[in-house]
Amino acid sequence: MVRRRDPPFNGHRYVGDKRNRLVHDLDREARGLRGCRVVNILVHDVVTFEPDTLREAYRRGYDFCPCCIGEA
Ligand SMILES: [Zn+2]
Repeated sequence: MVRRRDPPFNGHRYVGDKRNRLVHDLDREARGLRGCRVVNILVHDVVTFEPDTLREAYRRGYDFCPCCIGEA
């Protein structure tokens, strides 16, 4: 699967949702209604990380999406 390159994702691997404080791994994104529903995140709720790592997302208080990351 090709990672999303379109805005606001711009090829980032880890994308957070400010509203529910979940981070998704777009390389393992679960598509479909029961999946990550990344496309449903409102643009102004999309967060990317610098550096683009799970550690950074965790450091900023994001929980791991159970669909694409699960328990660490
Ligand atoms: Zn996810």
